[in-house]
Amino acid sequence: MDGARTIIEPFRIHAVEPIRISTRQEREAAIEAAGWNLFNLHADDVLIDLLTDSGTGAMSRDQWAAIQRGDESYAGSPSWFEFLGSVQALWPLKHVIPTHQGRAAEKILFSVVGGPGKAIPNNTHFDTTRANIEYTGAEAIDLVIAEGKDPAALHPFKGNMDVPALERLLAERRADVPVVFVTITNNSGGGQPVSLANLHAVREVCDRFDVPLFFDACRFAENAWFIKVREPGQAHRSITEIVREIASLADGMTMSAKKDGLANIGGWLAVNDDRLAEQCRNLLILTEGFPTYGGLAGRDLEAIAQGLREVVNEDYLRYRIRSTAYLGDALDAAGVPLVKPFGGHAIYLDARRLLPHISPLEYPGQALAVALYVEGGIRGCEIGTVMFGRHPDGSESPASMDLVRLAIPRRTYTQSHIDYAIEVVQVVAARSDELRGFRIVDEPPALRHFTARFEPLASGLRDGVATRN
Ligand SMILES: *Cc1c(COP(=O)(O)O)cnc(C)c1O
Repeated sequence: MDGARTIIEPFRIHAVEPIRISTRQEREAAIEAAGWNLFNLHADDVLIDLLTDSGTGAMSRDQWAAIQRGDESYAGSPSWFEFLGSVQALWPLKHVIPTHQGRAAEKILFSVVGGPGKAIPNNTHFDTTRANIEYTGAEAIDLVIAEGKDPAALHPFKGNMDVPALERLLAERRADVPVVFVTITNNSGGGQPVSLANLHAVREVCDRFDVPLFFDACRFAENAWFIKVREPGQAHRSITEIVREIASLADGMTMSAKKDGLANIGGWLAVNDDRLAEQCRNLLILTEGFPTYGGLAGRDLEAIAQGLREVVNEDYLRYRIRSTAYLGDALDAAGVPLVKPFGGHAIYLDARRLLPHISPLEYPGQALAVALYVEGGIRGCEIGTVMFGRHPDGSESPASMDLVRLAIPRRTYTQSHIDYAIEVVQVVAARSDELRGFRIVDEPPALRHFTARFEPLASGLRDGVATRN
């Protein structure tokens, strides 16, 4: 029916993976054994896994068929040419360099262009991008517009670059800036899109200062969908046309195929500059592999080639963006504090606002994430003081926000799975005053959120009874 209100999953299910239904008692034991860190759980003990949308999506029939066609020739495999053609149909950059993930592309690029004294601006650097830049001794600078830093500010393109701030940086430090980056969509800023107008404005500044412009393009198709539906004058255009226009502004890109490649592994680096490409390929051979397969098997190249053909499908993107907003709309209607507007791949719960009785250094995001798991087996991801609160000098301070991200794997869960997740969040939110904070009993020197172990703080303090949870 044309114009129906219900947007259906534009696929049927062809192979099923069982979900093991667990009891609350089992989950309590599992999370205690995991040191109250959701990364330490056995994934079989999770009912609905919203930890990340990276590499966790379902592949299509045609992707599995393409995997069978994978050709494992060491050099010049037909699967490489299939991959190259599919990438360049959307991103016609001259040199395409396959890597095992997005971060491998970052590592190679910044090893060549980074180094002490260099500065690399971005709307917001993703954590692996920042880490790879800083590892070379360079500085990673975030220049997102002010609205992008305010969880409650409503703006259709909260991922936009602050163009005057970029101009100021280049006016002062042009010689230090080897490349300007824009991340589409802006993952660390909540999956917020960047407008075509903003990308053109950034391009104009880069031209004026003669600096190359690169995109961290992990969610380029989701970003193109937001441009189509939110940006004036774009509604009549196809997603492919919009992506090609974005690509026409780029001197290069890094990509994780685990996002809008609709694959479980893979990525690439693409550049127009011949000399840069040669330097990057020399590093690729050291750590990833020969330039026609990078860090991937031929079958992976085939899966990505087919995934890229599917990801620009409008029925898919309408469903994808709507199904994320469906979760957000329901929680918003239930009064759960959220980051708005909703991004493309995830909904972010504002744990600091939901749990005002838990101070940031008692990790309200961790408390909420653990409660969602114990209550209903939902695994989200703390994005707050556990992730960002510890500094290189050993000090600790509250992160700017304490959020729990519920990321939606692509084509994986149905509406009833999401309805169940909504119910679990509502039940936990209704009893939020009973939640208690945590303390960290063991943590590594860096990236502590992956492996830290926690202990619940005493409960029952409201009654003056300091019993342990
Ligand atoms: C996931 C991601 C990366 C890194 O890609 P991996 O494939 O996980 O290495 C880089 N940038 C952004 C914006 C991402 O979302």
